[in-house]
Amino acid sequence: MTFREDGAEALEWAARYLERVGELPVLAQVQPGEIRARLPASPPETGEPFSAVLRDLEDVLLPGITHWQHPRFFGYFGVTASEPGILAELLAATLNSVAIMWRAAPASSELEEHVLDWLAQLLGLPAGLHGHIEDTASTSTTAALMAAREATGRRVVVFSDQAHSSVAKAVKLLGMVPREVPSDAEFRMRTDALELDDAAAVVATVGTTSSTSVDPVPAIADAAERAGAWLHVDAAYAGAAWVCPELRWSQAGVERADSVVVNAHKWLLTPMDCSCLWTRRPADLRNAFSLIPEYLRSRDEVDNLSEYGPALGRRFRSLKLWAVIRCYGREGLQAVIREHMRLAELFEGWVRAEPGWELCAPRPFSVVCFRREGSDEENEALLERVNASGEAFLIHTKLNGRFVLRLAVGNAWTTEDDVRRAWDVLRREAASLQTA
Ligand code: PLP
Repeated sequence: MTFREDGAEALEWAARYLERVGELPVLAQVQPGEIRARLPASPPETGEPFSAVLRDLEDVLLPGITHWQHPRFFGYFGVTASEPGILAELLAATLNSVAIMWRAAPASSELEEHVLDWLAQLLGLPAGLHGHIEDTASTSTTAALMAAREATGRRVVVFSDQAHSSVAKAVKLLGMVPREVPSDAEFRMRTDALELDDAAAVVATVGTTSSTSVDPVPAIADAAERAGAWLHVDAAYAGAAWVCPELRWSQAGVERADSVVVNAHKWLLTPMDCSCLWTRRPADLRNAFSLIPEYLRSRDEVDNLSEYGPALGRRFRSLKLWAVIRCYGREGLQAVIREHMRLAELFEGWVRAEPGWELCAPRPFSVVCFRREGSDEENEALLERVNASGEAFLIHTKLNGRFVLRLAVGNAWTTEDDVRRAWDVLRREAASLQTA
């Protein structure tokens, strides 16, 4: 077989997978160790045909896949690897451009800056920000906090009890000092509790992971400015919503941030991984990260994006984001976000109207936090049953110390029927738990 023939088969597999993924159980129905037990203990001595890899993908690995591309994947944050993004990943691997320095990958370096300018325009971010791509928001936030540490000479990082764990992890990694502040009844950072005088940075979240609450960024920006602290905004999930003007209320104050991260691999149809980090203080990022050994020196007067973050070798990630933006356009991206907002609102309405169920948090975006009347244990048992059914997949969180179910709409193929089915499964399993 040739590359061309193998490639055609792989593409056929991919196309067929996307057609049938909605019929597969969303959550992998395997036990830990089951997949490894099906794999040969030793690697092959001689090369096998690629068709053998495809066959084992289907027979051995597929049962161990939790299907993030499934229209009833409502766990974590729903995501989509859209077709243009998938194809661009294939092309990026084909080119295997490694953007260590501009001259090693001029197109990749320049497309990355250009596409981040495009995305900043689409999201209504201020003009003139410097943007680059990291793998994940965990890395983007680490980069921002390192720049803050170097720029301020301070070590304290302030964030709310609703901030994503990646913030605390970055603080630990950088040997900085965490200071957690409480959140209010609607899970937003309490600014009356904010002490920034000795802080290197404060991290505000737009769209927290548990409930998608929005921290009061304008007030946090005021306090950060007064204290000379770096303001980093984590909009990893909800930043995508800014493509819709009606959701830009949640962007208030972000124009004053020193850095902001939005994950294109969350709600912007781009395959994992693609985390967009913008800063209005690029010199501080470069000061923090620039370290050029002799063998990488050149006379080029250029922006080397590896000088703005921890990694030297950088994948051609902008290609997939470029493909997504070009193939969807502003209108296509808006249509997806608006449909998800509509579906989440619909689900929220069903929960509100149904006796025996309650909503547990305001819903700024496409995540609904709710629970069934009863104990935490009963809600946990309900979640287990729903996920074991394979018909839908949700996760839980804790809000105000209580076990809460969380339905996150974010997959581009999710329809109203899918959301309705999730609700039916929830009610069916709740009823059968009651009679059990
Ligand atoms: N920030 C927020 C608000 C998140 O919800 C998440 C992940 O869900 C992250 C950061 C971490 O993202 P990543 O997996 O890209 O590191």
